[in-house]
Amino acid sequence: MRATLSVPDSPFNNPLSQITANLSAVFGTLPTGLQMAFAVMFGLVVGSFLNVVVHRLPIMLERAWRAEVSETTGQPPADDGLPGRYNLWLPRSACPRCGHTLKAWENIPLLSYLVLRGRCSQCHTRVSLRYPAIELVSAACAAGALVTFGATGAALAAFGLCAALLAMSAIDIDTHLLPDSMTLPLLWAGLIINFDGTFATLHDSVLGAIAGYLALWCVHWLFKLVRGIEGMGYGDFKLLAALGAWLGWAALPQIVLISAVAGAVVGLLATWRGRMRFEEPLPFGPFLAAGGAATLFLGTPLYQILGG
Ligand SMILES: [Zn+2]
Repeated sequence: MRATLSVPDSPFNNPLSQITANLSAVFGTLPTGLQMAFAVMFGLVVGSFLNVVVHRLPIMLERAWRAEVSETTGQPPADDGLPGRYNLWLPRSACPRCGHTLKAWENIPLLSYLVLRGRCSQCHTRVSLRYPAIELVSAACAAGALVTFGATGAALAAFGLCAALLAMSAIDIDTHLLPDSMTLPLLWAGLIINFDGTFATLHDSVLGAIAGYLALWCVHWLFKLVRGIEGMGYGDFKLLAALGAWLGWAALPQIVLISAVAGAVVGLLATWRGRMRFEEPLPFGPFLAAGGAATLFLGTPLYQILGG
């Protein structure tokens, strides 16, 4: 006789419900203005960390790759002039020009940039406008998540998705790569978040992950067969798979349409203004990310418009 196994209730049925309960019990009782101020500050601080991720993660990945190569070939890796311990926390942030280590007051998101008028306090080299820009976009996403989803775990998850998309977009623009170490965890996170149907049913989420990958994989191979060029990177497939996992398969056509139109417009503008040659590949990740974020916050209004 087959023994029956008594299965305890899965502890992961509602990963966000406990967070939502705690958030609404504490954060939800605050006045709306104070909630918004907290969200914006939280967004700025996370944005500041994203700047570190965008700058350091590609360097860390390249280092890991070099170490692997040197292990295989037996040749010592070339000196890249960086300290031996180099990760998201160490060494402390410094001016890339003069090496001046930033003091705590020089490292406050947005505020330090404004006080120092966008220059290093020692050598007065201009600090890239991208640092405050990423902090501002991150703060806007945090505010948007609070407005759209209220003081809930869903808002926190939505902001997490935006933060990941923001960092990946900047890395894609810099390096034309979407690291697996970001796209794949984001895909898993989307499946877990939707255990209780936060943004899509689990069924739609799993289908979304599969359809997202396959859709761009097909486009990629079509391009390769017809024109003999690599139109898209594998990172793009994984990013759309992650967006499908977060938002469900039904969101995918809208995400692809928004990103394709936005990509075409930006590509044409850049070519027309002489900033880019026509054949030059445009990193597609930022456009997918924008389509995903728009769908997260606005739902799928395009279907109503197209459906009349
Ligand atoms: Zn400096």
